[in-house]
Amino acid sequence: MGRVLQPFEFVEPSTVDEAVGLASETGSRLFAGGCELVLSLRRGVVRYKRLVSIMGVPGLDGFRAHPKHGLEFGAQVRIRRLANHIWVGKRWAALHEAIEQLHPPHIMNMGTVVGNVCSAVPYYDLPTSLYAHRAMVRIGDGRAGRDIPIDDFYLGPRLTAVGPGEMVTSIFVPPPAADAGSAFKKIYKARRRSDDLHKINAAAYVALDAAKETIVDATLVIGSVGAMPIRIVDAETGLVGKAAGHAAYEAAAEIAAGAVAPMTDAAWVEEIRTEWIRILARDVLEQAASRARSRHDPAEDAHLAY
Ligand SMILES: Cc1cc2nc3c(=O)[nH]c(=O)nc-3n(C[C@H](O)[C@H](O)[C@H](O)COP(=O)(O)OP(=O)(O)OC[C@H]3O[C@@H](n4cnc5c(N)ncnc54)[C@H](O)[C@@H]3O)c2cc1C
Repeated sequence: MGRVLQPFEFVEPSTVDEAVGLASETGSRLFAGGCELVLSLRRGVVRYKRLVSIMGVPGLDGFRAHPKHGLEFGAQVRIRRLANHIWVGKRWAALHEAIEQLHPPHIMNMGTVVGNVCSAVPYYDLPTSLYAHRAMVRIGDGRAGRDIPIDDFYLGPRLTAVGPGEMVTSIFVPPPAADAGSAFKKIYKARRRSDDLHKINAAAYVALDAAKETIVDATLVIGSVGAMPIRIVDAETGLVGKAAGHAAYEAAAEIAAGAVAPMTDAAWVEEIRTEWIRILARDVLEQAASRARSRHDPAEDAHLAY
């Protein structure tokens, strides 16, 4: 593994327009916190002549977390900001749990959520949680912008829908329904390692009716099993209209175990991975539904400020 960084030019543009223009030139790459990019440069995975920092560009540091209006954070917002925000923990629990379980935790101080998402590394955790929350990715070039569902953002490992001359300006996460909850979990085969491919993660969102008896909406996502997180759409559809309870979650987990053909290797055979997918899927659904049952306190929302 190469340990010495090769020389590169470092530029700090002051507009999105300028940033994407510079970054689209051959041998240039845009970056935010630098956690993933510098690691890849050190390892010799990538080589760039010029790095374009977006951390000085005005307008990319926006942050808003409101249960009725949603969660939105700009490309400069570091992960720690979300970790410390009470409403992110309360309303976007799957994302918050994925953040809390980042290892090592100090990566939150430098890394941005947008950078994590844009890395398009198949075994990262935050994208799985953002799939469960049906996040929208905002892409812009400094003049115009477009919003795409995170489900359509990934084209393959380290490949996203961000085109030349574009960047992600922010991510929007819709507000959860009143009687909804979410959850995230991950499992490592061996000791926790940041670049450990021997990992599976899962996230779910469950919304219940006002009586908290029937499931009215659900997402179920399995990650780190392929090039990008996978929504288990058949399981989601099957959950809607079912009585909220163990049988529904077991049935959905069964569908998930059958739907995902996980990457396998000598260290972790398919049967074990499939069993873990079943367990994780059931657990995140149970946990999300339990959170949905334990709220809603409308008075809580009434006092909220941006
Ligand atoms: C030691 C270590 C442990 C980690 N552990 C975990 C873990 O347990 N779980 C997990 O999910 N993640 C983990 N990560 C990943 C970490 O969260 C990300 O590396 C970090 O969040 C990336 O953010 P950044 O701002 O540093 O991105 P950068 O390194 O600055 O950029 C990463 C990539 O995204 C692109 N990019 C950045 N911003 C934009 C933008 N606005 N528009 C378009 N492209 C952009 C860059 O060009 C680059 O290709 C770990 C990383 C390290 C180094």
